[in-house]
Amino acid sequence: MEKALKLLFKILLVFTLVLGVLIMALEISSRRLNPTQEPPRPPEFLACDTNRYPPDQEKIDFLAVLVEKQLQGLPITQEDLDRSMYLVPNHDMVGINGLFCNGMIIISERLPIGARYYVARHELEHLFQSAGVAVDYQDMEFSAHWVATREFPLGLIHTVISSLVGAYQLSPSTWAFLVNIWVMFKFYFLGWK
Ligand SMILES: [Zn+2]
Repeated sequence: MEKALKLLFKILLVFTLVLGVLIMALEISSRRLNPTQEPPRPPEFLACDTNRYPPDQEKIDFLAVLVEKQLQGLPITQEDLDRSMYLVPNHDMVGINGLFCNGMIIISERLPIGARYYVARHELEHLFQSAGVAVDYQDMEFSAHWVATREFPLGLIHTVISSLVGAYQLSPSTWAFLVNIWVMFKFYFLGWK
């Protein structure tokens, strides 16, 4: 029994050491490769170009209805999100899942359905934050994730997998991929830069 415990302790120690060294290497590399520590944005980003994607007034008006709903404490449904999403093909928002621009919730068509709800709920929370009707403002990114995760836990898994696959395809090497994942994890989940 004691032997087994010792072995377990050794394994844990080695695991912690390896993880520590890996995180340190990622952190040093990420500071060197990406001094601003912002998640990577591709240059061919056209999702917010209004000539290409004219604003949809119906969707913009519906978001105002959702702000009112939130103010009254009513739940946001999947159907609400269906009506608010503005889908854009992947080639105009490579590496980005969703964002709020031109008064609309823009979602990448590349995402599987579950992930679309998760990302749309996240972006909607940002709208609630800016409209002053969100429940929590402490850390805007973190609370947007928290709300979306609470309502669409499976959507989070879909989003993470889809983001990882997308990021890997864009990366010049596996190490560059790991560094990008580290930067995104810090930015979106820990709120660090
Ligand atoms: Zn966000």
